[in-house]
Amino acid sequence: MIPRLTTVVAVVLPRRHQGSEKPPRYVFPDGTVPAPPTAMIIIPQLLRHLGYGQASISILAAGMILVGCGEVTPPDPHENQDLIVVRGAAATAALIDLGGQPGTSFWHWHLTAPANDRSGRAVLEVGNTMLSWRLAGATHADTLTGLTLCPDDPIVWHDQFIPADKSDIWTWLPIPRIQVRSPYYADLLDLVTSLTFPLHGDRVVHWAREPIPVVPSLARGSHVDFGACLAEAVTTWNSSFGKTLFEWDQVFAEGVRLVYRPGEILRPPMWARLLRTDEAGRPLLIHIVAGDNYDRPTALISAKRALVHELAHALQLWGHSLDPEHVLWRWGPVVDAPAAEEVLAVRWWRRLPEGIDLGRYGRSVELDPDGLKGQGAAVKQRDEGYQAPQAGAGLDQSRCNDRLVVPETLHDHALKK
Ligand SMILES: [Zn+2]
Repeated sequence: MIPRLTTVVAVVLPRRHQGSEKPPRYVFPDGTVPAPPTAMIIIPQLLRHLGYGQASISILAAGMILVGCGEVTPPDPHENQDLIVVRGAAATAALIDLGGQPGTSFWHWHLTAPANDRSGRAVLEVGNTMLSWRLAGATHADTLTGLTLCPDDPIVWHDQFIPADKSDIWTWLPIPRIQVRSPYYADLLDLVTSLTFPLHGDRVVHWAREPIPVVPSLARGSHVDFGACLAEAVTTWNSSFGKTLFEWDQVFAEGVRLVYRPGEILRPPMWARLLRTDEAGRPLLIHIVAGDNYDRPTALISAKRALVHELAHALQLWGHSLDPEHVLWRWGPVVDAPAAEEVLAVRWWRRLPEGIDLGRYGRSVELDPDGLKGQGAAVKQRDEGYQAPQAGAGLDQSRCNDRLVVPETLHDHALKK
């Protein structure tokens, strides 16, 4: 990893800048030039440390760090041999968007290579426009390979693993640990990954277009106006989220479309089908397929709930939840609207940097492992050893356990993980 980091730095900065009479012209890989005075404050420090080897400062995503950040306070390199990895404004904004708080937190690091068992202290400083890591004792750049970072407060942060063979810009992004009410999930990251893994594995992928276009539907079943139900489901998601997630639009071959099959009794009665993605794997076109299963006036509420559920899939929460209070409950929704933490899961997914590998994050402690958060013990017990819902249990059995249809290539990708 480090040769790559060094390469990045070498592109950005001359390795030894002797002679201070004329600062060199720094050009970032994206062609931009750092704006003074910020760059002038930080770069001489970088050069000093890079050039003399007492400490190494690696800049990742350098193009995003300095430009436009007029109030950056450079990290204090101290007079020890700490290794500082600086991340920029984009990473800081992403972290704060995910619920992380500015401030200082203490971690420890250790190498995962069995032949090189080393560890040390780490400090994470999150400012308003800059975050930086200081790794005490990591004097050599090559110690950054295969590093695990563990927070001293595992309630606040997720552990993260820095792989040796990757140098992408998000590798060092800490992720705050957000508690959820559901007794089935350890935290929000657990919920998010459970709901998104079936399609994307651990990789974060966003929609190619936002808000997501939804094609208005005129479909009418024998008892259910599917177009009206779709409109209600769109309103439910937009109002739950507090922002327009879906907007009505007729974009050719893009967005979400309801496909009604009159006269057909489908098993399951409704499902989401991902039909097209772009070259980066972003969804472009999703069909929600519905049949004439909703053939009784009392089925109206089932149809509405099913559409809220399918729109959750369209938001890329492709998995199903273990929690019956979630609209994504695996046996079919028994609630009218997404739970607050499902909404938060959507928010997180949209804010997580695209391409980040969530499989690198973990936790060293479980929250409330036995108390089940004070309210879910009975629920959890009921779900273990689950039997299919019985008629009369308040569930429309024909509605349960819908399916997700994904293109073969995407399916293969998910299965490989
Ligand atoms: Zn489903």
